[in-house]
Amino acid sequence: ASGYQLLRDPHYNKGLAFNDKERDAHYLRGLLPPAIVNHDLQVKKLMNNIRQYQVPLQRYMAMMDLQESNERLFYKMLMDHVEELLPIVYTPTVGEACQKYGTIFRRPQGLFISLKEKGRILEVLKNWPEKKIQVIVVTDGERILGLGDLGCQGMGIPVGKLSLYTALGGIRPSACLPITIDVGTNNEDLLKNEFYIGLRQRRATGQEYAELIDEFMAAVKQMYGEKVLIQFEDFANHNAFDLLAKYGPSHLVFNDDIQGTASVVLAGLISALKSVGGQLADHTFLFLGAGEAGTGIAELIALEISKQTGIPLVESRKKIWLVDSKGLIVKSRLDSLQDFKRPWAHEHETVPNLINAVKVIKPTVLIGSSGAGKTFTKEVVETMTSLNEKPIILALSNPTSQSECTAKEAYAWSKGRAIFASGSPFDPVEYNGKTYVSGQANNAYIFPGLGLGLIISGAIRVHDDMLLAASEALASQVSQENLDNGLIYPPFTNIRKISAHIAARVAAKAYELGLATRLPQPENLVAYAESCMYSPSYRSYR
Ligand code: NAP
Ligand code: MN
Repeated sequence: ASGYQLLRDPHYNKGLAFNDKERDAHYLRGLLPPAIVNHDLQVKKLMNNIRQYQVPLQRYMAMMDLQESNERLFYKMLMDHVEELLPIVYTPTVGEACQKYGTIFRRPQGLFISLKEKGRILEVLKNWPEKKIQVIVVTDGERILGLGDLGCQGMGIPVGKLSLYTALGGIRPSACLPITIDVGTNNEDLLKNEFYIGLRQRRATGQEYAELIDEFMAAVKQMYGEKVLIQFEDFANHNAFDLLAKYGPSHLVFNDDIQGTASVVLAGLISALKSVGGQLADHTFLFLGAGEAGTGIAELIALEISKQTGIPLVESRKKIWLVDSKGLIVKSRLDSLQDFKRPWAHEHETVPNLINAVKVIKPTVLIGSSGAGKTFTKEVVETMTSLNEKPIILALSNPTSQSECTAKEAYAWSKGRAIFASGSPFDPVEYNGKTYVSGQANNAYIFPGLGLGLIISGAIRVHDDMLLAASEALASQVSQENLDNGLIYPPFTNIRKISAHIAARVAAKAYELGLATRLPQPENLVAYAESCMYSPSYRSYR
C-alpha cells in the first residue's frame, strides 16, 4: 500500500509518530513534516486543542474526527483522560450530538439497517469490513437517553457505547459493531427537518417491526455465531422488555438500560450499606419511576435479597415499592398495569404521589428513575431524613437538568446525612465546612467488564447471576477511603482494573453455570482478563 493510503487508514495511521525507518519503509518520505513525536506528546497536544473548545459539541466532533483518522491515538486519549472525556464521548454530550446528527454528519459510522433492507439483512452485514465481531450495540432510536425518539440519529449511542467497550473494557475496536435499525420515527421535527438522515415515515410497529428484528437477530447469529454479544440500547420500554424475553433463551443478549442499570445501582447499594449498616433485606426501597430502569433495579435487588436470605423471590419483592405517574403501584391497579409493573403491585391502599408514599412506606432507600427532574423536593428529602439516620438517596434521571435533586440540595436538606449518588455527575459540595463528593451511578462501570467476562469465557447466554456477580465485583472495588468521603462508587481512573475484576467474576459465574464454552477455564481469571485487553500502544511497522 502507498504511504498516502497508510496515513488515511485510521487503523494504522500514527501521524507524526512514524519514525525514520518506518517513513523509509512505507513510502512516507515527504508526506510528513520532519518532526517525529511520541504518542504521549500527541495526546498532550490534542488535549490542549480540545480544551480550547468551549462548546462540548465541538469537543465531541474533534474526538470523532480523531477516531476516524488515528484510532490508537483516540483510545489512548480516552484512556489517559477518562474522567474528562467520558462526558464528551458519552452522556451528556452524545445526546446533543444525536439531536444534531443530521447536521454534523460527515462520514457514516456503524451500520444502518432500515426497512428498505428487509429480506437482505445478511447481505448488509456482509458489507461491513470486519468479519470477527464480538460485540454489537444496537438501537432503534426510540428512547435515546432521556431525549425521546431520535430515529436514525440515535447512531451516536451505539458508536459511543462501543468506544467505551474498547477504552474501559479492552474489547478490540475491530470486534465492535454499532448498528441502528431504522423503522421510521414519530418525531415530527425530524420528519420535517431537511437534513434528517433516516427514513421519512412514522415508526413501523406490530408484525412489521417484529419481522425486521427477527430477521436481524437470525442474520447476526448466522454471520457471527452464537457467542456474539448483542446489547440492546435505548429501545422504548414497550419493546425493550419483550425483546429481552424473546431473544434471551436463544441469543447472547443484554439490555443495558434494564440490566446494566440494575447491576450498577445494586453495586452502589451494596457499598452504601457498608456505611449505613444492615443487610439488603433489612431495608425498604421506594422508587419514583417504574420503567426500564426502575423495575430492572427493583428485580435485581429482590433477587439478591433472595440469594442472601433464602426468602422466596415473591416475598423479597415485598420490600420494594414503586411509584409511577399514577401514584403508588398497588394491587387494586393490577388490571391496568403493564406486565413489567405487575410483580410490584403489593397489597396497600392507593397513594396518589411520592411525598405521601414516603410518609406511609417509610423507605430507608429512595431511588429516582422517572426521567422527571426536581421531584425530590425539600419536603421529600427532609421526610427521608426524619425517618433515617443516614437516608440513601439516588437521583438517577438524566441528563443533569432532569436530576431529581442536585447534590447540593441532597446534602443541605439532609443536614449532611444523606448517602447520595446520581445519574449525571455533580461537582463536590461544601456543606457546614465539610466537603461531600457524590458518586455517579454510571452504567459504564459495569457493561464493559461484563462484556469482557462474557467474551473471555465464551459465554452463550447472559444469566441474572452474572449481573449479581458484576455488582459484587464493582462494590468490592470501593475503598474505605472512598466511603469515608461519601463515595459509593470507585473513581473512574482505575476503570481498566475494575473491569478486569468484573470480567473475572462474570466469567467465573459463566463457568459455574455451565454457560462457558472456552475450555479449559483459565486458572487466574483476573490476570487472563487483563491479558486479553486491547492496548492502544502503537505497533512498529517494519
Ligand atoms: P421509562 O422506561 O420510560 O420509565 C419512566 C418511568 O417513570 C415510568 O414508570 C413513568 O410512569 C414514570 N414517570 C415519568 N414521569 C413521572 C412523574 N412525573 N412522576 C412519577 N412517575 C413518572 O424510562 P427509563 O428507561 O426507566 O429511564 C428513566 C430515567 O432513568 C431516565 O432519565 C434515564 O436517563 C435514567 N437512567 C439512569 C441510569 C443511570 O443513572 N445509570 C440508567 C438508566 C436510566 P408511567 O409508567 O406511569 O408512564
Ligand atoms: Mn441507554
